[in-house]
Amino acid sequence: MWLMTDTRANYVNGEWVSSETGETIDVENPANPSEVVASYQQSNAADAADAVDAAVAAQDDWATTPGPERGRILREAGTILQERKEELTDSLVAEEGKARAEAAGEVQRAIDIFHYFAVKASDLGGTTKSPSGRQKNLYIRQEPVGVAALVTPWNYPIAIPVWKLAPALAAGNTVVLKPASQAPGVVLDVAEALDEAGLPDGVFNVVTGPGSEVGSEFIENEGTDAVSFTGSSHVGEMVYEQATDSGKRVQTELGGKNPTVVTDSADPAEAAEIVATGGFGTTGQSCTGCSRAIVDEEVYDDFVAELVDRAESIDVGPGNDHEMGPQASESELEGTLDYIEIAQNEGATLVAGGGQPEGEEVEDGYFVEPTVFTDVESDMRIAQEEVFGPVVAVLKVSDFEEGLAVANDVPYGLSASVVTDDHTEANRFIDEAEAGVVKVNEKTTGLELHVPFGGFKRSSSETWREQGDAGLDFYTIEKTVYDNY
Ligand code: NDP
Repeated sequence: MWLMTDTRANYVNGEWVSSETGETIDVENPANPSEVVASYQQSNAADAADAVDAAVAAQDDWATTPGPERGRILREAGTILQERKEELTDSLVAEEGKARAEAAGEVQRAIDIFHYFAVKASDLGGTTKSPSGRQKNLYIRQEPVGVAALVTPWNYPIAIPVWKLAPALAAGNTVVLKPASQAPGVVLDVAEALDEAGLPDGVFNVVTGPGSEVGSEFIENEGTDAVSFTGSSHVGEMVYEQATDSGKRVQTELGGKNPTVVTDSADPAEAAEIVATGGFGTTGQSCTGCSRAIVDEEVYDDFVAELVDRAESIDVGPGNDHEMGPQASESELEGTLDYIEIAQNEGATLVAGGGQPEGEEVEDGYFVEPTVFTDVESDMRIAQEEVFGPVVAVLKVSDFEEGLAVANDVPYGLSASVVTDDHTEANRFIDEAEAGVVKVNEKTTGLELHVPFGGFKRSSSETWREQGDAGLDFYTIEKTVYDNY
């Protein structure tokens, strides 16, 4: 049965259970906040501890389940999600607010990740090496780490949980997951699909509730062995301390202040398209979103005119039938409007957007106009701090060298791109950009699922990468075997 009730339960030890607090919390539609999409358990640390106990109890059996069998369940879950793609897309649009095409793309990404790691589950094993003596065996086995605690953000409410969950399960770990309170519904839908696919009880557990209660318990509970967190740098840095103090393996993937450098050889229209799609896509709420365009003075005026055209032509409204949806919550909207004010007070020039759009369809929701600032200096807050809204700061530079220096002049280092017709500049950018993802003639957003992803500097703990084979590394530990039998 497809669980679609107004009040949704936690998924613990294969059962749908209520929190012991007896409390629930409503999630509203950010395009129309008077509409409650669903209510979720407002769980506490004791609920989280129960989930950890279930994951610990299920660990040994899942770890020794053959890889192809684990893969079969992942494949089946992916197929169930594929059949429910429309419902999942509806749920994403309603809870997170993103435009329908973006939501559908994200759901498809989650399905593809399940299918990718379904194959990987069979390939896991290890390597054999030549021993020093004859008639001996020397080999390295990859074993699961144990119980993985996953804590995830609201901006990609299905893709990010699944890019942690699928490799964890493929490698034989059991999992406890706390989704973001803003958009937890699709993670419960994933639990439903895994349950139907035959995942044994206790292998995957989802508990909704405040991060400081449920997330903290997952991180500190002695039953969990590894912590994978994606979210803001502020919370992530606390989580990192907490997890390492508790002796856990930990990865944190955090915020960004991602640049696109536009060189004098770039076509201004092409560059503006790259910046607009990277900066305004997903309402500017991607960790890899472009929030700084660093533009050579030769092409600056043409670039700004092209970017303003694009910002002003974006159709903003409820995600189901518009190009750009609302911000995910009132606090996100307020954060963006605050930064717009800060930028003006700092002396930046507002050349597009800057407020909330008008009209019947958008009057109640958390909508904001695609916004462009020029005359931005690198030491302004608008050029240094993550806004997490559709706001692009344009900085003028006199040459490629200065562009590269400005690109690196932030505490973050997640994604960086360059638009150029000069191969030497492209190569220098690849060499010298301080970012975990570097792109040439492409937007900063958009990731392939089978290559590593992670940041430099304050964007990441830099301990482990996610996705592809690197994603599996985090969830496995090597055992070296000297077999002289
Ligand atoms: P937050 O850091 O606010 O929250 C992330 C998760 O942590 C949520 O599930 C939250 O729960 C939980 N949490 C909050 N406080 C604690 C705590 N004390 N202990 C344990 N868990 C806690 O981030 P957002 O959800 O607002 O997500 C947006 C941020 O995520 C942006 O900074 C963005 O750049 C970053 N991000 C990074 C990505 C990357 O791969 N580098 C990808 C996507 C986003 P609750 O919801 O209940 O508060």
